[in-house]
Amino acid sequence: MSTHSAILGGSNAARLFACPASYAEQLKNPVGDVESVYAAEGTALHQAIAFCMENGCSPEAIIDQNLSDHTLTPELIEVLSKARAMLKRLQLQFGVGWRVVTVENILEFPGITGAFGGVDLVLSNGQFVIVVDWKFGQGIPVYALTHGDGYDEVNAQLMFYGIAARAAYKNRFKNKRVILAIIQPRVRDDADWVEVDHDEMDGFQAAFEAAYLEALGKNPHRERGDHCRFATCKTTCPLWTAPVFDLAVIDPHAAALKASADGNVSDYGNFLSRSLQLSEFVETWITEIRRQAHLHLEDGGQVPGYKLVPKRGTRQWIDPETVPAELYNLGLDDEDMFTEPQLKSPAQMEKAAKQHGVEVPDELFHKVSSGTTIAPLDDKRPAADRGRVIEDLRIALKAL
Ligand code: SF4
Repeated sequence: MSTHSAILGGSNAARLFACPASYAEQLKNPVGDVESVYAAEGTALHQAIAFCMENGCSPEAIIDQNLSDHTLTPELIEVLSKARAMLKRLQLQFGVGWRVVTVENILEFPGITGAFGGVDLVLSNGQFVIVVDWKFGQGIPVYALTHGDGYDEVNAQLMFYGIAARAAYKNRFKNKRVILAIIQPRVRDDADWVEVDHDEMDGFQAAFEAAYLEALGKNPHRERGDHCRFATCKTTCPLWTAPVFDLAVIDPHAAALKASADGNVSDYGNFLSRSLQLSEFVETWITEIRRQAHLHLEDGGQVPGYKLVPKRGTRQWIDPETVPAELYNLGLDDEDMFTEPQLKSPAQMEKAAKQHGVEVPDELFHKVSSGTTIAPLDDKRPAADRGRVIEDLRIALKAL
């Protein structure tokens, strides 16, 4: 049994609310969407921290061990240690006397058969229960509470885990205040948490049941959005496939191709804008199709017209220690075999400096753009200044 339900689990709870149609759409698809979220390294880190929590050992005690085909390198141990330190600081905010209720446990969501999720960690003391979700990826920050336009929304995945844990450990939750927390050591320095009361949890539970009932009914609501990001149902969903095939959307008639570069929006500019919007859908859809075809072939399935081939190999020295002596004997010298040491990039140097506890002084580097790229108007970066771009390119070329 997977630790996360691909159809009705914590990681896709928000999707069910936003798009109840995703339930039936996902059932059509033999590929779960869990792999995208829980990559192998993340699984290894989850297992490692669960081991430490259960056995009361420090992450350093399991350095170099192999879990889920991943060696726990010093870098990964550092991530685990940071996560443990973040947890300790969180616990301290809510008192002492903590006991572990459960670690890495598959718990059912009450009232809905087949809805379950892997709850990472639940702790309790005399007054509080903390439900923790570890997130070990390098991705974007995930918040326990998001602030919308005039409303606040508790993270649906956390609520799902909190309710599943409350149902499984009723006595531990009785008369306690509930803290739901996300610990993302590669993204933040402190846990992000929210306190929820039992009425809010009841409300979420009822809403989730209602969304599930809608999902089972006729013509459930279907809506595209951020919740589609890891959804494998993109491959068949009409909201994604329709734009892919609807070439009329780009309207490539002759008049539309008239260009005007006088600073005003031309038909040609409108044509490019529509085409760029369409290309974003197409690229996302193609990525998902390729990912699923690859998985299917790797699993031994057949995709008519396609096969798996090894990626292009690169030649590597079998024993780098002995190579120079062998090649000296053949008449090659140092110049033939070794490259000059080169100054590393500011980013690489910053990483090295961090290990020495120092910072690379700002005045040693400057930022030179190598050109421009297209971004939507709501992108955070300021629009490029054409004069500045040309000057940056001139500096970049001079530095070559
Ligand atoms: S791809 Fe998005 S819009 Fe389509 S069913 Fe899935 S979640 Fe809903």
